[in-house]
Amino acid sequence: MKKIIIIGGVAAGMSAAAKAKRLNPELEIVVYEKTDIVSWGACGLPYYVGDFYQDANIMIAREPEQFAKDGIVVKSLHEVIDIDITKKEVLVLNKKTGEKFYDSYDEVIVTTGASAIRPNIKNIDSENIFNLKDFRDGIELKKAMLKEENKKVIIIGAGYIGLEAGEAARHLNKEVKIIQLSSRVLPGSFDKEITDLMEEELNNTENLDLHLEESVEEFIAKDGKVVRVKTNKGEYPADIVIVAIGVKPNTEFLKDKGFNMLRNGALIIDSKGRTNVEGVYAAGDCASVYHKVRKENVYIPLATTANKIQIAAKLNSPLKENIILNPPRSPLSAVTPLAIQDFFTYFSLPITVKPPLIESPFLIQSSTSPGIYISVQEPNLIIPYSSPFFT
Ligand SMILES: Cc1cc2nc3c(=O)[nH]c(=O)nc-3n(C[C@H](O)[C@H](O)[C@H](O)COP(=O)(O)OP(=O)(O)OC[C@H]3O[C@@H](n4cnc5c(N)ncnc54)[C@H](O)[C@@H]3O)c2cc1C
Repeated sequence: MKKIIIIGGVAAGMSAAAKAKRLNPELEIVVYEKTDIVSWGACGLPYYVGDFYQDANIMIAREPEQFAKDGIVVKSLHEVIDIDITKKEVLVLNKKTGEKFYDSYDEVIVTTGASAIRPNIKNIDSENIFNLKDFRDGIELKKAMLKEENKKVIIIGAGYIGLEAGEAARHLNKEVKIIQLSSRVLPGSFDKEITDLMEEELNNTENLDLHLEESVEEFIAKDGKVVRVKTNKGEYPADIVIVAIGVKPNTEFLKDKGFNMLRNGALIIDSKGRTNVEGVYAAGDCASVYHKVRKENVYIPLATTANKIQIAAKLNSPLKENIILNPPRSPLSAVTPLAIQDFFTYFSLPITVKPPLIESPFLIQSSTSPGIYISVQEPNLIIPYSSPFFT
């Protein structure tokens, strides 16, 4: 019986585990997850923080016991700290007992995700500075947000997470400032025509100030808490600071092992999810994706990519080569971020559609907003043509 070890048990890891088991029930599958939570959806985290709903457990899709029923062994609080690609074994730290042990594999899938980047700014470790990445981040941030006395929220970064955090904070009636280094919001995802609309909406939102082309220089702290945020343009009082300036792939433990990586440490994979090291696959936020327009490997850390990369399809499946990584059925919706949908719904942009299908049999062009297309499979999802999600 072949054995697959999966490192990291969230979107990419548990999708791969479930898919591999469905395709080949004979496989032995062991998932190591370093935290105590597996199979949960971070996409819901900002809405939990904003108190759109109260039960954090709603974000958890399945518990380890449920995976066990399908023959998938999930070991939470177990961190893989090293890999020997010659002997085909991983070194695991049991975080409950402190014990270390080796476990061998035929194939290993690295789905370790990414961690929030913490900039090296004075007083970054103050108690009221939060990230919004992990389950526990969300729990802690919400506790702080629900305190009446915490009125002023400063968010560093106007990417997806920063803007969703802004929406959450506004839902709790906080006074929000979003400080963004570049001249536009979401510059990596949308063209100026689209971000202009978003910025207009943000600027029209009560108690929300968007500061573009501004950089944080210092967190001014008193008794371990930030009281003011100093930038190159001013100084602003703060009760809560949320740092959302991007993520970094969790691949440190693979450094110097011969893996091809992007400059940020994302593992470079081929269309079957294979790394350059025999028997080692990767998917999700720890890996690159191939961008068909730019014709290069890029880093797009989104759940849709993580879930849809069906690397398990290649692994010992009776269907083997008949299954391909990104099914042509839905090349677009396979990698469309829910956040885009959120945006257009939230801002109620006037979108109507007109046939005929253009560019792709999967898309319909908007008649009112040039350059905007709608996925046929998922009509609620609206995508600007320039988006990198056209793979
Ligand atoms: C607040 C927020 C909102 C988001 N909203 C959206 C959205 O609307 N749409 C969208 O498409 N995407 C969204 N995303 C992105 C999405 O959540 C990620 O792309 C997705 O979770 C990536 O899945 P993953 O399995 O690759 O990594 P992760 O979900 O990060 O999981 C990796 C797991 O590996 C574990 N791990 C790491 N190293 C080790 C190790 N050495 N040993 C064992 N375990 C390890 C980690 O503890 C972690 O649990 C959002 C993310 C956040 C934080």
